[in-house]
Amino acid sequence: MKEKLRVLVGLLPILLLLLADPTFSRRHSRRGTETLEEWQRHALEKIELLAREGGLPEEERKGITKFDKDVCYEKGCLDAALEFMTSVNFTVDPCKKETWMNFVCSRRVKGPDNINQVERLAKVADVQIQEILDGVLGAKELKDDFLFKEAQTYYHQCKNKADNDKEDVKNVLKFLSKCYGNWPILTGEDPGELFSWSNMVADINNIERYGFTPLIFKISMPNEFEGPHIVLSIGQTSFGTINSNDLKNFFQRVHKTAQLTEPYRHEQIEQMLYFQNSLNQVSISESPVEDLSLEKLQAKTDEFFAAENIEPSFNWVEFFQKVLSRTDIKVTQETKIKLPFQTVMNVLMQLDMSDPIALANVLNFQLASVLLQESTSLLDDMNAFKCTEETGPRETICLERTKQIFGYSLGKSFIKMTFNEAESRPFIEDLMSKIKQGYIDVISENEWMADTTKDFLKDKIKSMVTHIAQPNWLKEGGIESLKKFYEKLEASADKNSSYPINFLKVNSWMVDKKRAYAWDMSKRTDYKNYSFYDSEWSRYLGTVQAQYHKGINQVRIDAGIIQSPLFNLKAPGFMNYGGLGTVLGHEIGHSFDQQGRTFDKNGIEGEYWDPKSKAEYRKWVLDLAWKYGEEVHYITENLSNSIDPMKTIDDDIADVLGVHIGFLSYKEYLKALEADGKREKILPGMKSFAPQKLFYMKYANMWCDDKDIQDKYNDLLSDHSPGNTRATMPLLLSNEFAETFGCPKRS
Ligand SMILES: [Zn+2]
Repeated sequence: MKEKLRVLVGLLPILLLLLADPTFSRRHSRRGTETLEEWQRHALEKIELLAREGGLPEEERKGITKFDKDVCYEKGCLDAALEFMTSVNFTVDPCKKETWMNFVCSRRVKGPDNINQVERLAKVADVQIQEILDGVLGAKELKDDFLFKEAQTYYHQCKNKADNDKEDVKNVLKFLSKCYGNWPILTGEDPGELFSWSNMVADINNIERYGFTPLIFKISMPNEFEGPHIVLSIGQTSFGTINSNDLKNFFQRVHKTAQLTEPYRHEQIEQMLYFQNSLNQVSISESPVEDLSLEKLQAKTDEFFAAENIEPSFNWVEFFQKVLSRTDIKVTQETKIKLPFQTVMNVLMQLDMSDPIALANVLNFQLASVLLQESTSLLDDMNAFKCTEETGPRETICLERTKQIFGYSLGKSFIKMTFNEAESRPFIEDLMSKIKQGYIDVISENEWMADTTKDFLKDKIKSMVTHIAQPNWLKEGGIESLKKFYEKLEASADKNSSYPINFLKVNSWMVDKKRAYAWDMSKRTDYKNYSFYDSEWSRYLGTVQAQYHKGINQVRIDAGIIQSPLFNLKAPGFMNYGGLGTVLGHEIGHSFDQQGRTFDKNGIEGEYWDPKSKAEYRKWVLDLAWKYGEEVHYITENLSNSIDPMKTIDDDIADVLGVHIGFLSYKEYLKALEADGKREKILPGMKSFAPQKLFYMKYANMWCDDKDIQDKYNDLLSDHSPGNTRATMPLLLSNEFAETFGCPKRS
């Protein structure tokens, strides 16, 4: 149901350099000053140099560094001018399809930056949050933010795993003995009264980590609309590729690192392996899944145990209550459980017959090994553990986790640093309403659509809800709402605290939260009163994405994408309309793609169009697909490929509509400026470029790229057209574009 996530934006290194220069960003220019400040002169010199390189005619170039009362010298304008001057080759014809890319952005993508601006911004936004977490950015402003220190601590500890192996191993052992009694193989003692295999299995089920499956039983939650129930399946029955040598190695290392005095009982390793083997035997083929209430499950289990003469039976209510103890999910006799009953009984019987020492050894081993794998370097070189390790740089893994876990709290801090709530929100609301009006106008003027279908579509556009940067509950509820969301999280704010213990606490909170979320979703029957943010258990608000959800007719714009070079309050309108505006136009366009058009304003699927409009729409789509299908995509100079246009057509539709309607909205914006007695800002060196031209040039600059062979090849596998096609085709098909650039009319 979830609408595909749309990733959108990027930044020129040259802009980055300027942004990173504090004297440049701090001082805003005073418009209308007769003298240019030093930083402005500096930027203008750069602009002039770049303009010369791009072949801007001398008469347009020569005045760049001299003050001109018509020209805008604010930072937003100089940034925009720099962006164009870095990209544009002024010597070629913008009208020809073959030369448009060369005209609009060849110099940038073949020079300082080869990826599109959306992808670039995603990288920039990750650097921003990394710097925030590292305390390089916003240290003063954010220090008292809710859970800020906790997020920093988690990220820092995760990233710097293996910082203190000795302490971590000791802490893990201390934790295990405190909670679960003796670990026989290391202590030489029986597990003791504290040990309960079912409690331990319940706790192990609160761990979520890449490649990790709990031993013995695995608990999972239902999918949305499935109705509330708990799924119990057979968990891991053996340690996969871990053999007796690995186990020996493991215990030797733990023993040595923790400086234990008691020798470890290596003879117990054989028992551990024997235990695994027998568990494997009884669960190798699973019996059919049965759907039972807890009451019924208990009765059947008691019956089974009685028949086998085993005392006492197993208490299911206690077990599930333990698993879900920190959630609000109430486990009662009526709670539904789905499980392969017969196999589960075989496992229980096997556990009953097993040596508690072996059982305690394997469970302690699983819990300890996952914590040590996460927090120390102790197991890093062991092949058996490598296959359950997420690939990629540790920093990236930890950043993604931190973003997810602290999505709202850390997102709020990100917003504080990057989003101007008071001014940007009204601007984006106005932008959005202009785009929606653009859609309504285009629908009204459509020649082939019946009035009933027009009314249906207009109503849908009008009812579309937009979320900007954060959910309403957070915007209105502020810190109190955050406190409520993170109520049961016991994360440490102390960087010197024990990472494995902190990991366990944070991780189990996440698992609980996900379970409670899945439970609520399973109880739903539709998306009524559902907000975009209800589609995930947590959401990192700094993501560089704008999305449309056809199942609820809502648009979400995350704070990460409301940034330069896609959006900048101080930039001229064509930068914002050609940038973020066309992105939002694209998202709304998805309500009109082949799938999106079959949902009504409440997200209910059906056929709402009259047959004739539907037939005409189909013709329009096929014609568009045919045009996109004609495109030849060069991977290298000699190697080219075409792509199946039916794969990308929904996004192509959204692109074509997004640019067309973005442009109409921009014209409305210009009209509104004029009515206010204002006018669009003029960029240094670009006096001869009408703002309408710059709108299209900004749009194309956002998507164009010059990727390497592998990335180009990957782009052809995506359900979006490649960047350069996106930057060209919607314009090639547009009469407004042709008119703006004085090109021959498009057919
Ligand atoms: Zn899309």
